[in-house]
Amino acid sequence: MGRRASKKIFPNFDKHGRGLRIIRRAAVLGMGVIAAMVEMTGALRDAAADETTGDASMHYAIAIHGGAGTITRGSMTPKRESEYRNKLSEALLAARQILEKGGAALDAVEAAIVVMEESPLFNAGKGAVFTADGRNELDASIMDGATLNAGAVAGVTHVRNPIRLARSVLDHSPHVLLAGQGAEEFARNHGIELVPATWFWTERRFRQLLKVQEKGEHALLLDHDGDHRFGTVGAVVLDAKGNLAAGTSTGGLTNKAWGRIGDSPIIGAGTYASNRSCAVSGTGQGEYFMRLTIAREICALVEYRDMALQAAADEMIHHRLKHLGGAGGVIALGKDGTIAFSFNTEGMYRGWLDSRDPDPKTAIYKD
Ligand code: ASP
Repeated sequence: MGRRASKKIFPNFDKHGRGLRIIRRAAVLGMGVIAAMVEMTGALRDAAADETTGDASMHYAIAIHGGAGTITRGSMTPKRESEYRNKLSEALLAARQILEKGGAALDAVEAAIVVMEESPLFNAGKGAVFTADGRNELDASIMDGATLNAGAVAGVTHVRNPIRLARSVLDHSPHVLLAGQGAEEFARNHGIELVPATWFWTERRFRQLLKVQEKGEHALLLDHDGDHRFGTVGAVVLDAKGNLAAGTSTGGLTNKAWGRIGDSPIIGAGTYASNRSCAVSGTGQGEYFMRLTIAREICALVEYRDMALQAAADEMIHHRLKHLGGAGGVIALGKDGTIAFSFNTEGMYRGWLDSRDPDPKTAIYKD
């Protein structure tokens, strides 16, 4: 063990020289002893960094969303409906595969979101909507409820899976949120796949842009054609060690101004996770979600007011968001594995499963 390492572990010993002599002697006697001490110190530090240590019950749970909006049975063909349900199930299974092997909530969140980012059905990754000047600018975030570590990216234009980049920011950067060119430079340096901007071009989304621009220069369209549809994707997970995590990924709003950033990459607004309370991912009009810090607020109601998760989610979506004039929804997961969905729109693409009932379940409409 070098002098620097011993300084790090026993900072006060350095002042008195005596400590260092003891360490040197110990090193001669056996590096194994020191190694064990280092390991113990690390373990103590990690435990101290934990928000709360997960309550390992071997119970896991997953909930995902693929956006909320005016999604009615009348506006859906059976083929379209089964495409959405199949993709939601695939995302759930990708997360389940990780959790049933004892994997981490963060990994499961990332895996579920990657499946949806790869599909043109959702407004995230491949299916991202267009900005007013015909580009695709993507936002994403991910948060670890055990440590409160978080990573987020905003306004990226060449990142195939923005959730992977958000995860890399969480793992490898001292920062929480990276934007634009800096975020893409970070992607390049950390082996995250970059694609030409044309990767995100889909005819369906381009038509949406043209349609909304017919309405006027400043019209904004939330995803899925109608006036109130949001196609953002998100996942919340409880792993078998009792740790929560949440993530969200989006292309934002059709015809948004370039440089506009929504709630999805904002920790506390579109995404939040804490082992003390819950994990939340939202979809809807980002400006309202930011002003109400919806994701964090739900967890705060659970943590400080001891509110039931569903009641906390409904309070924010059916009362606070609605009264401010906003539309959207959330998925939420409690530390005991309780799953809650709340949306003030006609529908929300959603799916869930847990270790007691591990078959994927999906729903779209209100009833
Ligand atoms: N919340 C996203 C945003 O405002 C949009 C969405 O949910 O579809 O960027």
